[in-house]
Amino acid sequence: MKKKTLRDVEVANKTVLVRVDFNVPMDDGKITDDNRIRQAVPTLEHLIEKNAKVVCFSHLGRVKSEDDKAKLTLKPVAEALSAHLKRDVTFVPETRGEALEKAIDTLKPGDVLMIENTRFEDLDGKKESKNDPDLGKYWASLGDVFINDAFGTAHRAHASNVGIAANIAESAAGFLLEKEIAFIGNAINDPTRPFIAILGGVKVSDKIGVIKNLLDKADMILIGGGMSYTFLKSQGIEVGTSVVEEDKLELANQLLKDAYGKIVLPLDFRVTKTFANDAPSRIAAANDIKPDEMGLDIGPETLEKYQKLLKNARTVVWNGPVGVFEFENYRHGTLGVCETVANLEDATTIIGGGDSASAAINFGFADAFSHISTGGGASLEFLEGKTLPGLACLDDAS
Ligand code: AMP
Repeated sequence: MKKKTLRDVEVANKTVLVRVDFNVPMDDGKITDDNRIRQAVPTLEHLIEKNAKVVCFSHLGRVKSEDDKAKLTLKPVAEALSAHLKRDVTFVPETRGEALEKAIDTLKPGDVLMIENTRFEDLDGKKESKNDPDLGKYWASLGDVFINDAFGTAHRAHASNVGIAANIAESAAGFLLEKEIAFIGNAINDPTRPFIAILGGVKVSDKIGVIKNLLDKADMILIGGGMSYTFLKSQGIEVGTSVVEEDKLELANQLLKDAYGKIVLPLDFRVTKTFANDAPSRIAAANDIKPDEMGLDIGPETLEKYQKLLKNARTVVWNGPVGVFEFENYRHGTLGVCETVANLEDATTIIGGGDSASAAINFGFADAFSHISTGGGASLEFLEGKTLPGLACLDDAS
């Protein structure tokens, strides 16, 4: 990476503003997946060890009304971070003002403080999400150095990343951002081959950019999930009531033509008449889906074929479940793909965030991949080959 990183910055006794991505899933005030907090720990521990005064910024969810504030406070996240770092984390329930400034002034080297959800600023004209110039300038005035470690928001230009970086003396990438860029960047720019991508999820439209970019770079693209049916229907195959994007049929047909066989479609599916876990289901070949049936998972023949192809892979990028894995009866394909990739020896294995990341973590494979990205949207945009504003805004390496 040609950007300055945390290793290049002198931080002792300086106030270091760190943009982390602690936008973690919560259920009734409890964090249900702390992957993003765990992955930010190396950067924060490094800063503590180097005697920086650490000020953490993060957003949590979308704040649309005053009522959202109670459920979207970062207080429980600050408590979880304190447990991970095994030290106090001062939580300031403000995003600006005297109390926050005083708390930052009293920090000692090695102390950690977290400000309230940056998106509380969105209640007043979307100042955070629209990168209000005064807000970025104000937040930058609170510190000496800016470290961006929030890969999950790096595809957005917000006040708490791009705004701060534009107004502070020095900025650099944290270890997590550096790791995300290194893993995903190497996979698409300089992969060890064979490089196989597995793309699933509901829609082709979400992944068009990724498919187009990977057509040149990957050796094979294995398709699963809802997007399979748009591809099949584009070839004149009956897909019943399965999810289809009618307005993307022509594009799907064109992608298959451009792919010269690189795009591999499922051979069979588990199909049912009702979108429910317990409704009766059967295995159907891809050309045997009845008009009143929908496919909710890849079938055993497809899984076996994908497993065989994956056995030879040296680089794998997986984005999107290959079935409705939330239903126990339709998670077989996603679990099988996950297990196969997790057990590959001698391969770089990357999950591009989002639902496939939570599936892998829930299936118990959190530590079995080379890298599980903390950013769904950001990793998709990076896989598309787009520039990430949260990375571009940082100082270049000298
Ligand atoms: P995405 O956010 O595009 O990665 O899509 C993830 C969602 O795709 C998950 O909630 C899955 O339940 C859903 N999904 C996967 N396969 C299918 C399918 N065959 N039909 C409908 N939804 C699907």
